Amino acid sequence: MTDNRTFRIAAIPADGVGREVVAAGRAVLDALAADSGGAFGFDWQEFPWGCDYYQRTGRMIDEDGLVQLKEFDAIYFGAVGWPTVPDHISLWGLRLKICQSFDQWANVRPVHFLPGITSPLRKADTTELDWVVVRENSEGEYAGLGGRNLAGRGRGGEVAIQSALFTEVGCERIMRFAFDLARTRSRRKVSSVTKSNAQQYGMVLWDDVFHRVADDYPDVETESVLVDAMSAKFVLHPEDLSVVVASNLNADILSDLGSALAGSLGLAASANLNPERRFPSMFEPVHGSAPDIAGQGLANPIGAVGSAALMLEHFGLPEQAARLYKAIEKTTGAGILTRDVGGTASTDNVTKALIDALAG
Ligand code: ATP
Ligand code: MG
Repeated sequence: MTDNRTFRIAAIPADGVGREVVAAGRAVLDALAADSGGAFGFDWQEFPWGCDYYQRTGRMIDEDGLVQLKEFDAIYFGAVGWPTVPDHISLWGLRLKICQSFDQWANVRPVHFLPGITSPLRKADTTELDWVVVRENSEGEYAGLGGRNLAGRGRGGEVAIQSALFTEVGCERIMRFAFDLARTRSRRKVSSVTKSNAQQYGMVLWDDVFHRVADDYPDVETESVLVDAMSAKFVLHPEDLSVVVASNLNADILSDLGSALAGSLGLAASANLNPERRFPSMFEPVHGSAPDIAGQGLANPIGAVGSAALMLEHFGLPEQAARLYKAIEKTTGAGILTRDVGGTASTDNVTKALIDALAG
């Protein structure tokens, strides 16, 4: 290693198990840096934002929070949400606010099968499977467009409209991102997901742009699959997948399906990227705050540690990311597993095993 760099990271553990898994991820990253002989390091600053903060202050994030965050190389996020605060306040007030303000338009969610973990898929060797869901993260079905006509409320006459926004620019950049990613993988293939047989405007624009962009990547295999058929394909023919690109809603659902197939939501990592690097990108496990198990030392830290590996790749340290992936595989392969994947280990047990595996 010759980087000799210190990366400034804003840690936002936020709520519930987010706190436990961010602490675990930080411990693993610090162990990795300590082992690098000073070649690189992390300068952490932790922010107290989240639902507790909201209940004390009436704000999910400081008024100048985004200005503070903008100065960091990356954001390492836990999970936001708590039963006492409505989702539209907690989610929009913190996580989505950061995603939108920092134009993190590409959400990368690898589906990674690990040794020692039983997948509900009946495949002989699931550890051979791995694919990536690329989610359009700035528009689509989550653009927040629509409204409710309350005139007929309570008399059976209320009407609500929820629209989706698709722009040529938004579609094109996420497609190019997916094709560029496919070129870095052993299988050069992009599967585009729509429901263009039933949604005849936005999804058809998506299809048009997909085919146009595909012409620029003749070396990449392509397919266009409807989302219902793709759900079945995740289960029946996952070996046929490499990069799956889909709109905000479709990719959200498909990536949860993917992580469940890999064994647990607690294993799934994600990166919310601003590919132009004008703003910090954000790395977080796919799961939520898991109020049912929070504070009990039961949370699986692997999704958060895998997200830390994605952050290292983003920093241009792929060998260090590979060391983390190897430590994860060694730990699960040795049967050191939290309850969600059939084991009895605590969050701390797994974290310690990961750190030991780095050294070994
Ligand atoms: P969100 O709305 O934020 O996506 P959610 O309602 O979908 O949250 P999660 O909080 O992700 O739900 O939890 C879903 C289920 O997965 C719960 O049973 C939870 O205990 C489990 N779970 C989530 N994260 C983990 C983890 N890191 N380790 C173990 N189990 C987890
Ligand atoms: Mg969820």
